[in-house]
Amino acid sequence: MKLTTKIIIGLIAGAIVGIILNLSAPDLFSTLDTYLFNPLGTIFINLISMLVVPIVLFSIILGVTGLGEPKNLGRIGIKTVVYFLSTTALAIIIGIGLALIFKPGLIGEFNTADAEYSTEEAPPVSDTLINIIPSNPFEALTSGNMLQIIVFAVLVGFALTRLGEKTKGIISLIEQGNEVMMYLVGLAMKVAPYGTFGLIASAIGSQGFSAMKAMGVYMIVVLGALFVHAFVTYGSSVYFLGGMNPIKFFKGFSPAMGVGFSTSSSNATLPLSMETAQKKLGVPEPISSFVQPLGATINMDGTAIMQGVATIFIAQVYGSDLSLTQLMTVVLTAVLASIGTAGVPGVGLIMLAMVLQSVDLPVEGIALIIGIDRLLDMVRTSVNITGDAACAVVVANTEEKRLQKKA
Ligand code: ASP
Repeated sequence: MKLTTKIIIGLIAGAIVGIILNLSAPDLFSTLDTYLFNPLGTIFINLISMLVVPIVLFSIILGVTGLGEPKNLGRIGIKTVVYFLSTTALAIIIGIGLALIFKPGLIGEFNTADAEYSTEEAPPVSDTLINIIPSNPFEALTSGNMLQIIVFAVLVGFALTRLGEKTKGIISLIEQGNEVMMYLVGLAMKVAPYGTFGLIASAIGSQGFSAMKAMGVYMIVVLGALFVHAFVTYGSSVYFLGGMNPIKFFKGFSPAMGVGFSTSSSNATLPLSMETAQKKLGVPEPISSFVQPLGATINMDGTAIMQGVATIFIAQVYGSDLSLTQLMTVVLTAVLASIGTAGVPGVGLIMLAMVLQSVDLPVEGIALIIGIDRLLDMVRTSVNITGDAACAVVVANTEEKRLQKKA
């Protein structure tokens, strides 16, 4: 049986078991969760997370050396960042648009009197950008600071390209290290179906389904916007700019989407999403190695959509009308907030505080949506990593066309 099929079976079985236990045997659920679901899921997440830092380091160094001239890196870097920023802005606009049309905050009753939410201070995005160069690369590696690791790796790759023959040994050492890591990704994927089963059973089983009913319209609007963005924005950019049939794209990338869904973490899914883009979508290694780790760190369209819808929802619940200038402020701050969101579960919601504050909306509003955010996090993470893969396909195609033209 193919890995994709196995992962999908794991997802569905986990969801069914989770719902049945949640509704009919909550006590049994908590025992099973402690001794089975949670351990299965945690072991799987740790196994793939273990590979993330070395893979990002090795593959970016190799990606940069593989691109050859620094000019190529500059051109690909600009294309990537332009794609990331424009699709993220579009994502927020879709989210805001649907929320303004369907008015999730005006349908139903919401109890704002007891809403309490203490902001875990999110670091200002400007700090992230100022600290982009690691003063100690080893500290960046041990703490898993992705943006800093990326910068360090790009610089090392640049140096190796310049030094050429002199440092050939280091390059082959890193190449071999990368092989070892990719082999381990293959092994980790063998347990992915069981890991996803455990993660989904645990996440679904612990949900309060009554919260879902109250928040139904909000959920549907977020899911609808995610769906539209994935299929329309990515589908058309993959087709028109990437020269690939969207069905091939989504089908090929589906194992990574499944793992993104179950882990709710772009970072943890990174090894698999890179492997899938290279093997199933034919993205050349140097491009995938550069675009996808960067995307997993700064490109979060799904998160941006949630932040757009949530802001309008909270504005509606608290009865405040946002002016056009305020809506534009929301787009801008949500782009920044999604850049600042780390690719781990739940951070998108913490960064939402920044968006709300930018237009003077009450941060306590987050308390209203926190109950169902765990479920939405799964879907938006899937969208987040799909956006990175779509960008990789687009960049790969434009680069190939460029080479053909030159030839
Ligand atoms: N969980 C998301 C991710 O890893 C981030 C978020 O929206 O919380 O992509």
